[in-house]
Amino acid sequence: MHDKVLILGGGVAGCAASIALARKGRNVVLIEREPTPRHKVCGEFLSGEALVDLHALGLDVAALGAVPIDSVRLAAARRAAEAPLPFPAASLTRRALDSALIAQAVAAGVQVERGRSVQALSRTPANLWQATLDDGATHEASTAFLATGKHDLRGHARPKDPQQWVAFKMYFRLAPGQAAALAGASELMLYPGGYGGIQPVEGGIANLCCVVQRRHLARAGYRWEGFLAKMQRECPHLAMRLHGAEPLLARPIAITHIPYGYIRRTTENGLYCIGDQAAVIPSFTGDGISIALHTARCAAAAYLASVPAPVFQARLRSALLFQMRLAELAADGLNNSFARAVLPFCLRVWPGVMRVTAALTRVAQHSAVDPQVAVS
Ligand SMILES: Cc1cc2nc3c(=O)[nH]c(=O)nc-3n(C[C@H](O)[C@H](O)[C@H](O)COP(=O)(O)OP(=O)(O)OC[C@H]3O[C@@H](n4cnc5c(N)ncnc54)[C@H](O)[C@@H]3O)c2cc1C
Repeated sequence: MHDKVLILGGGVAGCAASIALARKGRNVVLIEREPTPRHKVCGEFLSGEALVDLHALGLDVAALGAVPIDSVRLAAARRAAEAPLPFPAASLTRRALDSALIAQAVAAGVQVERGRSVQALSRTPANLWQATLDDGATHEASTAFLATGKHDLRGHARPKDPQQWVAFKMYFRLAPGQAAALAGASELMLYPGGYGGIQPVEGGIANLCCVVQRRHLARAGYRWEGFLAKMQRECPHLAMRLHGAEPLLARPIAITHIPYGYIRRTTENGLYCIGDQAAVIPSFTGDGISIALHTARCAAAAYLASVPAPVFQARLRSALLFQMRLAELAADGLNNSFARAVLPFCLRVWPGVMRVTAALTRVAQHSAVDPQVAVS
């Protein structure tokens, strides 16, 4: 029982932690509520750090069809500025990424239970963690990893999102000229109340992923069609990209409640919180997957070195704090009408700023929580 580890949620963080623990001989049970990987709201940008971690987990993203991304463009109103990325990057659909991660977990010997949803996580009188599944079945272990991403378990909820963010993702087949113009680039577009990104993914298609505060969505009648038209009016660069484009999903995928800037302060003994359950970085950084992989790797290392979960969680928080606060500051800047007006112009004059911001808002590999340091 003491060697058994429960991992709740089989997305990026849950799979990464389960692979790391299974490779060290632990008896790992991973519970994932979706029977098969599906589309998730995500810009699908893989930063350099994410690529390093995925490679270490045994994933060959190029073989999965990942598209190399080497530059970033920022567009607001009628201006756009471009800068080369200061690190290698790629894009890959979450469906492809999550499928490959689950397959890798199975290959590492993880007992994967798919299509099973955790309804509750509680303590037994014997001080074990008990996960109760939707059919009433239970799993018990002395250690659990909470990796349910955007979804909170009752009793373990993250704070409310005061800005009431709403996020959408839609795939498009762009007109040939626009697809060629977008090739190799990740484009960030600013508009009142939010921002969006468009970039190529495998299969010759493009992913448009955008966030907006609920009160701004209200002005578009809470409808995707109205919001898409409003974004294009406010950001003609996007209108140009989508001219002649064919939407590929019947309707966009949407989520609400995104507590940007959240970093978990503490946890209980034996419960390691990872991925979006540990920290939620503003999406424009394209660093959430990297943080999910990083927190999973650090939590697995901490558990293996017998670092208590509350000690790990506090150290992880300090390690991520600077990057998170900087990303939040930058996000506030993007949301300011004066900044929207002058940013592309400034970036054209001094494109280095974009590279510096991109580099500073990365989760640095050196900010790993060294378990040996954590115990001493
Ligand atoms: C609009 C937007 C755009 C983004 N764009 C990017 C980007 O371009 N690049 C980037 O790096 N990051 C991006 N992110 C962030 C990134 O998507 C997340 O940070 C990352 O997916 C977190 O990984 P995770 O493992 O914590 O959660 P997830 O990958 O979401 O995995 C959680 C898993 O838990 C499962 N689950 C949930 N509840 C239960 C339950 N009760 N029982 C069992 N299983 C459960 C879910 O089905 C899911 O598979 C973006 C986020 C948003 C909101």
